[in-house]
This record gives sequence, structure tokens and C-alpha cells, in this order.
Amino acid sequence: MFTKILIANRGEIACRVAATAARMAIRTVAVYSDADAGAKHVQACDEAVHIGGSAPKDSYLRWEKIIEVAKATGAQAIHPGYGFLSENEDFARACAKAGLVFIGPPPSAIKDMGLKAESKQLMERAGVPLVPGYHGANQDPVLLQAEADRIGDPVLIKASAGGGGKGMRAVDKSEDFASALASCKREAINSFGDDAVLIEKYVQRPRHIEIQVFGDTQGNYVYLFERDCSVQRRHQKVLEEAPAPGMTPEMRAQMGLAAVAAARAVNYVGAGTVEFIVEQRDGGEMNFFFMEMNTRLQVEHPVTEAITGQDLVEWQLRVASGEPLPLMQDQLKIHGHAIEARICAENPDNNFLPATGSLHVYGLPACVTFERADAGVRVDSGVREGDTISPFYDSMVAKLIVHGSSREEALARLDTALAQTHIVGLNTNVQFLRHVTTSPSFAKANLDTALIPREADVLFNQEKVGLGLAAAALVARTLVDEQALAQRRDASGWIDPWAQRDNWRSHGPSVRSFAMQFHEQPHTVQLTAVHDGDALLRVDGDEAVLRYQALANGALDVAWGTQRAACHIYKKGDVAHVFAAQGATQIIAIDALAHAGDGQVEGGRLTAPMPGKVVSFAVKAGDAVKKGQPLAVMEAMKMEHTIAAPADGTVAEVLFAPGDQVTEGSELLRMEVAA
Ligand code: ADP
Ligand code: ADP
Ligand code: MG
Repeated sequence: MFTKILIANRGEIACRVAATAARMAIRTVAVYSDADAGAKHVQACDEAVHIGGSAPKDSYLRWEKIIEVAKATGAQAIHPGYGFLSENEDFARACAKAGLVFIGPPPSAIKDMGLKAESKQLMERAGVPLVPGYHGANQDPVLLQAEADRIGDPVLIKASAGGGGKGMRAVDKSEDFASALASCKREAINSFGDDAVLIEKYVQRPRHIEIQVFGDTQGNYVYLFERDCSVQRRHQKVLEEAPAPGMTPEMRAQMGLAAVAAARAVNYVGAGTVEFIVEQRDGGEMNFFFMEMNTRLQVEHPVTEAITGQDLVEWQLRVASGEPLPLMQDQLKIHGHAIEARICAENPDNNFLPATGSLHVYGLPACVTFERADAGVRVDSGVREGDTISPFYDSMVAKLIVHGSSREEALARLDTALAQTHIVGLNTNVQFLRHVTTSPSFAKANLDTALIPREADVLFNQEKVGLGLAAAALVARTLVDEQALAQRRDASGWIDPWAQRDNWRSHGPSVRSFAMQFHEQPHTVQLTAVHDGDALLRVDGDEAVLRYQALANGALDVAWGTQRAACHIYKKGDVAHVFAAQGATQIIAIDALAHAGDGQVEGGRLTAPMPGKVVSFAVKAGDAVKKGQPLAVMEAMKMEHTIAAPADGTVAEVLFAPGDQVTEGSELLRMEVAA
């Protein structure tokens, strides 16, 4: 076995490989780009070497440099992860030439499976069923049109060098073929530098079912069963599960043997995935056709690990070091059901537009890592709270993998785990994934690649936490925070009695108003409290008793009228992010206490709304300011509060310096309000 390996990747897969290596007492070398200098994978490895700029071509794709680093650090092998160099035949060859083991298949197998058209010709000879289509070398547009017409509508044009869902065009009618072909070729030349295409029959109601295969250097092959990856958006996987619902033992064996035949035909070694497209006929009959082979470890390998109890990275390392496969076919069994959800930084309600930003809050479900996934929840992630999702790399933040004794149990566990995933700072698909999980089609395993468009009505623009509960949660959270602040002793142990907000008044109930914004609409929220009694919360026209209680896990149990939920509320600036079992939402507080509202500019004075620390001033004396313009930032309760100009005017004087501690009501700056 190796004693040291280099991991030529980043993010969750680099961390994933490092974890297995550590368990096997193999030392690891990380490589990193400028953007990743402080990344989790750098810390996950024993050593780390900087290899260049943030763009992949300046770092993770610089294979000469990576080989040089491997040699200099004494690594014996390179694990390429997925993406980047993992399916680069030249890199695999260069590793061998440099005396390093490439943890993956032989370069010839990468080449044979690298192009969709050529690999299909090979598979045809190996007797693996193919989608009816054309995958010849002749690329004459007239011939391609004739082939498309022969196959019959609808057809799919695919870039032979394509991957990651790119370079595909579905064509419904013969007369649209020519323009789709031209656009597919343009995308193919731009993305893959090769505009060769193939044409396939567009399978109706298709399912994507793939088989995990493994080969060793002694010529043994096994299949580790299937994964159903039918839930896709833009031909990219969203949810993956194993085993595939509805799979019969006979069909599993047929597909497994076909996948092994495919691997054997290219003398495959290591982990690979043979992807099939499955046609669903009325009456339940299913026909499978070879689509492509991915010659690497796949993103969704954890579902296979969950149902087989095997560590596929360990298998890769053993096979690469020359050992035989750890288990043979009859020793492999399926246990229960596993589902993976890909958590991505994107906005599903805006056409899945990728999002970037920093992970202000990154709260994960109670979980264990893959080594001890016995609790049924595993998270593979390459980021930590505070990290940034940059535009340089893909938008996957984490993978959430659940395992249960049945599909129903796994589904329930998935929804709970997603509800416990709290991400604040950028848009993610977490709530969307919950909607997919609970959609009728997914719940009933009515799977095909059109599931997302078919269920669009229940997937997009869903709001499960409404204004009332969101406002109640925010008010409860504000009251709890104020109470905590008031109880804070100063250095001498003194609790400021004037900071108490216990609704005490010498006569009559206290009424407090909050201005809030929900879905860009303003709302008035009023809290009427009686000392030692109930608090009534009015949200627009509805009034009900508000009760709340802090729970041990940091949540607040919030009850308002008939609504009740355990809520986690995170504030980022003015925005409160509310997470509850039924969903998540955001509400904006324009709280007169947290902000320099209109009431607080008394004769041009601007005062601290709460005790805390001055972080910065955005203005200096003499600056002209507009109403609403940020003047200063304060920090209290580990949160930042912006003090905005209450009116147009001029800054007369700044009274503190950044870093100064101020008590509530301290005058921070003086302003002359324009007449
Ligand atoms: P899977 O999800 O089945 O593992 P994907 O096709 O989604 O496979 O690809 C996994 C990773 O490899 C992603 O990070 C994707 O961006 C990358 N990738 C796949 N094919 C290509 C390609 N041809 N060029 C660049 N990146 C690719
Ligand atoms: P990539 O290399 O981008 O992963 P694939 O050939 O694996 O390309 O196809 C990606 C996805 O496109 C499949 O998972 C499936 O959803 C869809 N697809 C591919 N071929 C067909 C087909 N012939 N008919 C219908 N859908 C297809
Ligand atoms: Mg594919």
C-alpha cells in the first residue's frame, strides 16, 4: 500500500479522499489555488502546496506542475477525484511516465470511453445494448439529417466529447434539426474543442440508471449494483438513490453483467460507472440502453457505499496499489435504501442561476461522517461556516446522504435532514430539494428525467412559512436577544437597570411597533404587552397571543395563535432568516431599536441602539449624506447593525473611533439635517 498520495482536486471530494487515506494511515498532499488558500481540503491533508491562480486552468488543470509537486513531496500516487484531470488520458499517461500511480483506469480505457460516439461503437461490438441512433465518423450535415429522419422524431443530438449535461439538443421535428445541429456544434467546439456529434432516439419517459463497476489488475470484475439518477435539471443530477425503485433482481443482474462486459471490453481497472438510459413501457416493462461510461469515482458514489457498507475510495486505493478486489460478486449485498441530495449554491426559482457569496451560517443536520454513517445521515462537504463559494468552481456546497431500512424511511430522514440544513449568506436549493423529496412523483417513486418540469407547480416559488409565523418568530427572537443583552453584566458585575425591557410601565400596557417587510411588501406588527401577562401580537389585521420559549438546541419554540413551530432565526443585517420544520423564509425588520429610525435623530444626534462595539464609520465630518445611507456599523450579539442616515443632511462630527465600546444611547455621530 502507498504511504503517501497527492490529491489533485479540491472541495468535498478532496476532503472525502483525505478522510479514507487518514483512516488507512496514508499521508496526503493537497494542492490549492489562490482562491483556496484557506480551504477545508488544505487543512484536511497532511501537507499542502500552492499551485497557482484561481481559475482551474491556472491550478487544478496544470498537470505538469501537479506531477512536479507529487515528486517533490514524495507521493507515490495521485488521486484525481472527479472533474478536472480525472478523465484526462494525457495526465494518466504522464503520471506513469513520471513513476507515479494514477488512481484510476489505464489511459487506454479513458481514451476508449472518452468519446461518446467511439465508445458506442466499442460497446456495440461487446454486445451491450445501445439506444437506436447514429454514431459514425461521417459528420456531413446532409447525412446527419438523413440519419435523424431514419431514427424518427424526436431525436437527441449529443456532442461526442460532451459531459456534465453540456452539448445536447433535443429535436422534436425534422425541420428544426439543421439549426439545432449548428447550435450544438457551436457549444461543443467552445466547451470541448471538438464538434463531432452523434444522434440518438430521444427516449420517452426515460430513467437514468447507472451501474457502479470495479475491476482490479488481476482481471476480476464486480458490479456494486445500481443508482437511479433520474431526477435531473438541465440534464444534471439533483437527487440520486440506490437501489433503483422497481428494479427486479433479473434486470439488475442483466444490467450488472452488461456493465461488467463494458468494463471488460476496455480492460478497465478501478472504479467506473456505466450509465444506462432506461425506457419505461406501459405495463411496467423496462428496456435499458448504454449511454456512456464515466471513468472515475462519481459524485453520487456515497449512496452505493451506504447500501453496500463499503468504502469505495479504499477500494480504489487497494486496487491501484495492486491488491485484488476486496470482495467478489457473491459477497456483495444490498442493505436498505440510500438517497443523496446535492446542495448547490443556486436559485431554483430563478432558473437555477448559480449563486456566490459567503456562508454566514452553515448549520448542518446532526450527522456523522462516512466512516460512521450508522445514524443514517452523512454530509460530505468541502466548506465550513464563513467560507466563500466563489465563481471559479462548481456550485455544489455539500452532499447530504441518508440511509434507511426502506425507501420510505430514507425519504423521511432526508426531509428532516434538509429541514435541519441552515444556510444563510447565499441562495441554495435546500428548500427546493425538500419540495422535490415530498412531491407526489418522487414520494411514489414515479421517476423519470422529466420529474422536475412535471412537478413544477409544487417545486418552484413555494412558501411554507407565512408572514404571521415569520413575524412572530422575529419578534420572539428580538425579545430574547434584548433580554440576553439586558442581563449582560459589565466588567464590574453591574446589570444596567435602564437596559431592562420587561415591559414595565407605571400605568397601562406597553405597545411596541415594528416595521417589517415580507416579500417586498411592508407590514405593521404591533406587540401589546401587559407586565407579567400575555403579549398580544398584531400582524397587519390579525391579533393573537404570542408565546415563545428558548430550546436547548438554539431554536425558539414560537406559538402565535394557532400556529406553532420550533424556529431557528438567524439575523444578517436587517434580514432575519427563519428555518422551521415546514420550510424556511426571510423577513426584514426595520426595528426602531435596532436602527437609527426616525425617532432617534434628536436635534441631529445619532445614538447607539444597543450596547456594543463600533466596527466602522462609512462617513467623516463634512460629508453630505442621503436618507438611508449607511453611516456606521456596530456589532452586538455577534451581529452587525448598520446605522443609516434618518434624513438628508451633513455629518457634523464623528464621536467615536472603530473598535470603541459604546453603551446603549451613546451618541455616535452628529448630523445636521437638511431643511
Ligand atoms: P456525475 O455527477 O455523474 O459524477 P457529472 O457529469 O455531473 O457526473 O460531472 C461530475 C463533475 O465533473 C462535475 O464537477 C462536472 O463539472 C465535471 N465534468 C464532467 N464532465 C466534464 C467535462 N467534459 N468537462 C469539464 N468538467 C466536466
Ligand atoms: P453527460 O456526459 O452530459 O452526462 P449523458 O449522455 O450521460 O451526458 O446524458 C446526460 C442525461 O441526458 C441523461 O442522464 C439523460 O437524462 C439525458 N439523456 C441522454 N441520452 C438520452 C436519450 N437518448 N433520450 C433521452 N434522454 C437522454
Ligand atoms: Mg452522463
